[in-house]
Amino acid sequence: MTRETFTLQARFVFPVEGPPIENGCVTIKEGRIAWVGPASEREGDIDLGNTAIVPGFVNAHTHLELDPLDDDDGSGSNEDMVGWLRRVVGQRGRTTEEMLRAAAVCNLASAIAAGTTLVADVTMAGASWPAVAAAAVRGVVFAELIGLKRERGLHTSEAAWRWLSTIRPEDQVAACARPGLSPHAPYSTAGWLFYKAAGSRMPLTTHLAELPEELRLLERHDGPLREFLEDIGAWDDDWDQVGPRSSDYIRKGDLRRADWLIAHGTYLDPDDFWQLRPEAAPDGQRVAVAYCPRTHARFGHAPHPYRKLIDRGAIVCIGTDSLASTPTLSVLDELRFLHARDASIPGGLLLAMGTLFGAWALRADLTTGSLKPGKSADLAVISLPDRDDRDPFTLLFESAEPVESTLFEGDFVAGPWVGA
Ligand SMILES: [Zn+2]
Repeated sequence: MTRETFTLQARFVFPVEGPPIENGCVTIKEGRIAWVGPASEREGDIDLGNTAIVPGFVNAHTHLELDPLDDDDGSGSNEDMVGWLRRVVGQRGRTTEEMLRAAAVCNLASAIAAGTTLVADVTMAGASWPAVAAAAVRGVVFAELIGLKRERGLHTSEAAWRWLSTIRPEDQVAACARPGLSPHAPYSTAGWLFYKAAGSRMPLTTHLAELPEELRLLERHDGPLREFLEDIGAWDDDWDQVGPRSSDYIRKGDLRRADWLIAHGTYLDPDDFWQLRPEAAPDGQRVAVAYCPRTHARFGHAPHPYRKLIDRGAIVCIGTDSLASTPTLSVLDELRFLHARDASIPGGLLLAMGTLFGAWALRADLTTGSLKPGKSADLAVISLPDRDDRDPFTLLFESAEPVESTLFEGDFVAGPWVGA
């Protein structure tokens, strides 16, 4: 798209920060949103027909470099999560860095085709950075820190910092991407790595309170996770533990002074929910929970507390997690799955969870996440079903119609209009 200024017209426009607009338009000027309003006030240059224009989706938790498990039939439900972890570790052991990089390129392309314009990706030592930097997408690429044993922790942190040292500030601007760090999880990562990550002043993410076995390991140092860690040679009798509770890993001492994107958080103690409110941050830090609905359902977990978290003022955004636990890297598919299970979530809130809230958590909400003049024209265009509905959000969420096009900074980057 070479035109400097053009207006898209669609059956519905969902600005997120405002009600849906039937027969709406979005004017794009030099890659930014210049105007959003009804077609009665402005004629569109491109009529996208029976579609919806929404902000590009924000995938707040994924691992682009992970492919589906070799022996996975995709029908997992009530699966034993520790058994699944064994299979992931086994497959990783058979994967070269070249394979990780190739998978990241391919999986990112499918995520973009599904309307993703901002991705939070957890990766081994920056393996997915070249893919994210080269693609028409925004990203925060978190290098994984892992290891209860000091030697393993040193190895992963050296690899992470070696990668970080290669990224110059001007590269980040050109790539629309930033680096971050991801201490993997309390059960897999020593306390000193959490503190080291928090001291880096970079965005952080961690898998927290993801499974009941984690709580047991933290409190009692036993159970299936301990057996698993012993089996793979990762257990450390002199484990450097931050504390006996999952929330200690983001709230204790200087750990409070970082942005934390909490992957999953299913078993967070409700008594700690208040601590996750933006107002509870000592210095404007951003703490949010990335809920991955289909991955959560796969393992037959306790119900996810997303509604209680939201009711207490916490920010909950949506991730897909990896193809090792979910069938697609589509945030829209996750939102539709969640809507089918819990139709009581207002449509506007659900869409914000898949867009603006993730942008907030990644400190990109001034740039993207809603259709607001001045923000980047990062959009997804979704085909709508041929029916009417009093609630336009049901046209989005009670439908199997695909994402037709993705725009990034005002350019069509996926779909039939690419290069038009
Ligand atoms: Zn994950």
